Amino acid sequence: MSAASPSRSGAASPDARRPAANPWRVDLRELGRRAGSMQELDRTAPTPEDWRVELIGVPAGTEVHLRLRLESVMEGVLVTGEIDAPVTGSCARCLEPIEDTLSLDVQELYAYEGSTTEATSEEDEVRRIEGDHLDLEALARDTVVLALPLAPVCTEDCAGLCAGCGQRLDDLPADHAHEIVDARWAGLAAKFGATPTSSPGAPGESPTTEEN
Ligand SMILES: [Zn+2]
Ligand SMILES: [Zn+2]
Repeated sequence: MSAASPSRSGAASPDARRPAANPWRVDLRELGRRAGSMQELDRTAPTPEDWRVELIGVPAGTEVHLRLRLESVMEGVLVTGEIDAPVTGSCARCLEPIEDTLSLDVQELYAYEGSTTEATSEEDEVRRIEGDHLDLEALARDTVVLALPLAPVCTEDCAGLCAGCGQRLDDLPADHAHEIVDARWAGLAAKFGATPTSSPGAPGESPTTEEN
């Protein structure tokens, strides 16, 4: 609502100072307050800090792509669209590095100061428009962090690590196995030249072949 002074020079309010410097902040003066007016927004913005859960996240400084539509409604500005966030992490099963891009839908109402929505909502229930600006950073961060998996996997059917040697099972031949010989018996077996007749943990497998 407040008209910017034609000259940007001189003592400006802190908000008017280089408003384009922060790509997460959107100047709403172009959109205006007339219900129904619309503005497309397509830009990238760097994450100011790590957005992450245990094993995966968006490292600080990563460019997040925002493709949003801002729509002026009675109570404020409705933001809808998509956020693309590159994530890096490691597989919860095999610890292999993971790189991916999350594409997330967003729909959020930013309420005007003094609007009914603002008046009837708890402080943390609704995002607010600050003066002539709207800040997308918290919305993007919340959307991304909520979508991060607690147990990310490199592939849906990742088999994890071999309990015997700690290598990735997917990198090993299908018949990879370990002869499990109890160290206490290994000496005896060598002494008597005997091979253990049964090995623990391999029930269904019998060396004798029955009629096929
Ligand atoms: Zn894996
Ligand atoms: Zn192994």
